[in-house]
Amino acid sequence: MGKAPVSYIGLGSNLGDRQASIQKALKLLAEAEGVSVPRISELIETPPLGAAAQPEFINAVAEIKTSLSPEDLLRALLDIETSLGRQRQEKWSPRIIDLDLLLFGDEVVNRPGLTVPHPQMHLRSFVLKGICQLEPELSHPVLKEPMSELAGRLNGADYVLNPDLPQLISIAGIIGVGKTTLTRKLSNLLGCKALFEAYDKNPFMPDVYAGNRQLALDSQLYFLTSRITQLNHNTLQQAQIALSDYVFDKELIYAKRLLSPEQLTLYEQIYSPVGTNVSTPVLVIFLTDSVENCLQRIHRRNRPYEQKIRPQFLKALNADYERLFADWRTCPVIRITASKLDYTTDAHIDHLANQIKSYVAV
Ligand code: ATP
Ligand code: CA
Ligand code: CA
Repeated sequence: MGKAPVSYIGLGSNLGDRQASIQKALKLLAEAEGVSVPRISELIETPPLGAAAQPEFINAVAEIKTSLSPEDLLRALLDIETSLGRQRQEKWSPRIIDLDLLLFGDEVVNRPGLTVPHPQMHLRSFVLKGICQLEPELSHPVLKEPMSELAGRLNGADYVLNPDLPQLISIAGIIGVGKTTLTRKLSNLLGCKALFEAYDKNPFMPDVYAGNRQLALDSQLYFLTSRITQLNHNTLQQAQIALSDYVFDKELIYAKRLLSPEQLTLYEQIYSPVGTNVSTPVLVIFLTDSVENCLQRIHRRNRPYEQKIRPQFLKALNADYERLFADWRTCPVIRITASKLDYTTDAHIDHLANQIKSYVAV
């Protein structure tokens, strides 16, 4: 089987002697006709997906080589599950053993009963961690990004595609990084709704940027009400993509930078309760760039009130965003260096739009 494609199997157990079940499954896999198991990851302890009142999982990833077809390999996996006593109940119920076919070389299979790559593997840290222990630079055949990059986007968390929610994608980053341009181009490509921040309609903001801090609370309340309207649960539709050129959480970042302590106290009392009515994103695209490049874009687009923005202010905002996403466990975050986004060819933006399709449930 020297030339056989390298495949990856995800193993999981959260019932009975979990470790023993995984070891038995690995043994049966190695003994199966036409299958060899050159390498396995460490065992990884994972809280259960979905229903919380379940025992923890032990997961692992096995690298295999096989002369079987993807269909026959899946059948072999299901046979091993059965022989270890797996009884199929409702989705994600506790199980003695679960064997998923994650990757089959770089093949893409979309048939009833078999999808490869496994459709949610890029949303599961326990899967990506296991593959990264074995082959971190391996490229995902659909997303066309290395497994290490996909793992970094999850920040250690696990997510599920949920068609019951609006599929909000938020573009984040400091002033001048190019959020609006990216939102416009992506929404054209994806044919979806685009939500733009109403900065040009905010009557208070020019005064605030000119130094009149008395109006900072009015300005922040203006933005807050506008965003609540745009992102309201009732405005956005479930299973439909909407792109916003801001992330709602930026409100607190700006409020903390622009409001006096007394204004901030008042603001926070409003922010917390109304924040519960907005949709959270299923994906964030975090655009980053040097302060110099952002200042250049700000000068080029020449919005009058922005021209007095100081490098220190952008630097502080950038640090705030970095802190926000360092602790972020709401959804995956794709980080992109804005100056590396080349709009003169379609390649970059097409690649991004294609990837987005794997992070939304539509
Ligand atoms: P998930 O697939 O989200 O991890 P699960 O493992 O709990 O959920 P199961 O009940 O084990 O889901 O599998 C349901 C069916 O999915 C299987 O019977 C199988 O036919 C089908 N299936 C499709 N693609 C794959 C794949 N790549 N690996 C494993 N099963 C798959
Ligand atoms: Ca599974
Ligand atoms: Ca399964």
